[in-house]
Amino acid sequence: MSDGRTLAREFLEQQRLLGGDTVILSDGPAPGSTPGSRPGSVTPPGSSAGPTPGASPGRTRAPAANALPPAGLSYDPPSGDLFSTDPIAQAVSLEAIAQLVATCTKCRLCEGRRHAVPGEGPPDARLVVVGEGPGRVEDETGRPFVGPAGELLTKILAAIDLPRERVFICNVVKCRPPENRLPQFDEIAACVPYLFHQIERLKPQVILAMGGTAAQTLLNTKQSLGALRNQVHRFRGIPVIVTYHPAALLRNPNWKKPTWDDVRIARRLIA
Ligand code: URA
Ligand code: SF4
Repeated sequence: MSDGRTLAREFLEQQRLLGGDTVILSDGPAPGSTPGSRPGSVTPPGSSAGPTPGASPGRTRAPAANALPPAGLSYDPPSGDLFSTDPIAQAVSLEAIAQLVATCTKCRLCEGRRHAVPGEGPPDARLVVVGEGPGRVEDETGRPFVGPAGELLTKILAAIDLPRERVFICNVVKCRPPENRLPQFDEIAACVPYLFHQIERLKPQVILAMGGTAAQTLLNTKQSLGALRNQVHRFRGIPVIVTYHPAALLRNPNWKKPTWDDVRIARRLIA
């Protein structure tokens, strides 16, 4: 038996042990011995192998009416799409994503939370605002940006004629980091599929990334907030504007004017 057929046999045996479909290799002529035969062809159980009597030599048999076509080698894994069982990918709506978030235990931030904060806003929002993670009031209420930083955000949005009810507001991590520390890399990695799927379903016209964590996560970079401002970036084709986090504005009012400039650019990108 040729090396190719031996390998194919071993491969199919492995697939069978892993739970794949039963396939039986035919004991037909070795590859290359018959011009036109398919190397390593596989015959389903029950069908006869080898050339049909009367068929011209060197030709594979034409399938009889109603007969299954001759089986071929397939190198697809037996169970289809590797991600076909990912519950986030299967969540059809924003509410379904929010339900997964509410009971999520994918990272240690679930241990200290009172409420997970999936985010809120209408499914047809044209603007998505992304912050860092819930603070104390957000953790208590389960709603994003409702503490002091949230009050400032609400004012900023009203000032560009986008009432917060018309904006989808959410965060990179959905549970509060202890003492409002920065979310750690593994926490962001665990949580960010929720954000990405929310954006995928919302398909907003613009994303406003508030603060370094949101900007660096969405743009997959370690560049500083200062370096990322004043440009229109893209996340999966959607324009992203980077600006300061409202909590930072509360500490440093000098950043209000540049934030105002950024937010107006975002507004102009919205139809
Ligand atoms: N800061 C954030 O980043 N998100 C909130 O929801 C509240 C404060
Ligand atoms: Fe799950 Fe995100 Fe909360 Fe971690 S922060 S437990 S990944 S919802």
